[in-house]
Amino acid sequence: MGECIFCEIVEDQAPARRLIEDERTLAFLDINPATTGHALVVPKAHADDLLDIPVEDLTAVTVTAQRLARASMTALEADGVNLLQATRAAAFQTVFHMHVHVIPRYAEDGIRLPWIPTPGDPERIDETADRLRAAL
Ligand code: AMP
Ligand code: ZN
Repeated sequence: MGECIFCEIVEDQAPARRLIEDERTLAFLDINPATTGHALVVPKAHADDLLDIPVEDLTAVTVTAQRLARASMTALEADGVNLLQATRAAAFQTVFHMHVHVIPRYAEDGIRLPWIPTPGDPERIDETADRLRAAL
């Protein structure tokens, strides 16, 4: 799969501020933190993104993210936490090894939603629900 920086971190071939590790997952701090404590959780086995990660690894990543979220609330005195997962470039993905961002949130951290909540057209929402149900 060529060079993958997160595979290198998993294999200890690249530096990282490692936080916690188990059989399936590793968590480390992001080098461009959105807030204090911004961490990434990755599966040890390479998957490109949310679409191809096996469900056992996805479950393990989610459990590790919860542990980090809880640690952020206590150790960092965060006021809340956002989880963010980017799949494909159109969704902001820049590293193509599946990861979940755990972003501790603080009351005055200045982070804003990347969209403006605006009521949608009900007919279009109904039609969208039909299209999705047909694929599920
Ligand atoms: P995404 O845009 O969801 O693919 O996020 C990739 C994240 O990985 C970004 O927040 C980067 O700052 C972070 N990142 C890239 N390289 C490293 C690295 N070597 N160690 C820690 N974080 C990294
Ligand atoms: Zn990888």
